[in-house]
Amino acid sequence: MKRYSAFRIHRDDRGHHAGIETLTQPEPAAGEVLIRVSHSSVNYKDALAGTGQGKILRTFPLVGGIDAAGRVERSNHPDFQPGDAVIATGWGMSFDHDGGYAEILCVPGDWLLPLPDGLDAASAMILGTAGFTAALAAHRMLTNGQRPELGPILITGASGGVGSMAIALFARLGYEVVAISGKPALHGWLRGLGANRVLDREALAEAKRPLEKAQWGGAIDTVGGDLLAQITRTMAPGGNIAAIGLAGGHELHASVMPFILRGVSLLGCNSVDIPSPLRAELWRHLASDWRPARLETMVTETIDLEGLSEVFARMLAGRTHGRILVRME
Ligand code: NDP
Repeated sequence: MKRYSAFRIHRDDRGHHAGIETLTQPEPAAGEVLIRVSHSSVNYKDALAGTGQGKILRTFPLVGGIDAAGRVERSNHPDFQPGDAVIATGWGMSFDHDGGYAEILCVPGDWLLPLPDGLDAASAMILGTAGFTAALAAHRMLTNGQRPELGPILITGASGGVGSMAIALFARLGYEVVAISGKPALHGWLRGLGANRVLDREALAEAKRPLEKAQWGGAIDTVGGDLLAQITRTMAPGGNIAAIGLAGGHELHASVMPFILRGVSLLGCNSVDIPSPLRAELWRHLASDWRPARLETMVTETIDLEGLSEVFARMLAGRTHGRILVRME
């Protein structure tokens, strides 16, 4: 019986608890693939799941981690052979199925993509769900007519994983990028990623009327709440808002006026269960023409499984930035 280490989350009569455990390697069932995981990453959702501060898991106990990259060890799926380099993000991982915070991951082969040309396991996990979600937002906005002439792209939660990826991606696509960040010390870092201007979190607080001065051709919002409402009021005609996150709140109190008088679109983005053909297309972009110019500089910390709990607490307290890579080997 082969054994492996994993960061496992429980909710039982002791309440929420999580930590490293030694598990027994499973047998892949029909359609499943067994992967030796080399890298994962830390996303906000991982921090919510790992601390129990968010209701993310649907069943307990589960191994955490919504991202994984590694090599196939055994395959019961026709598309994958031992030795293949693969990635997986989202789907049921750390939701109703074990996730990527483990040396071994056994998942349906349909959740896997071959590692795209141009990426290795580490760079794929620097991108991870954060990069994929920024790419999904770009895809939804471009499909809905986004173009540089509409005006700058506003990006909130800018120093976070999704925010920093969105800055780099839209800068690479030739857009003027305006970042909103609550971390004054990181304004220089954000400009280095491609932000033309950086505003503080209160910059739009005076935007209270249903229609205020139109400032943004597009927006990527990872914060929600009041900030998202302020964005709706300051969008240019025809602009797109990609709604991604709730780091500042899940409620939205807004007027319909921007939607019916300026034709503003609010585009929901859910990275979890994007069908494989679009998933593969977006990863191909991330590995080539949408790849952040300085991807390697977006990693601010590299940790192992032992470091997860401490990072989760810091992330939820707003004291992390950029991407946090998890190395299994
Ligand atoms: P991070 O923690 O890396 O980034 C969040 C950023 O939001 C912080 O760095 C901070 O940026 C800002 N922020 C944090 N707290 C507050 C607050 N109270 N008010 C305003 N701003 C705040 O997380 P991720 O980038 O991984 O995720 C961001 C959000 O997007 C989360 O809500 C997450 O659940 C969601 N998400 C959704 C996905 C989807 O498929 N829809 C996929 C991935 C993430 P700064 O200090 O620079 O302002």
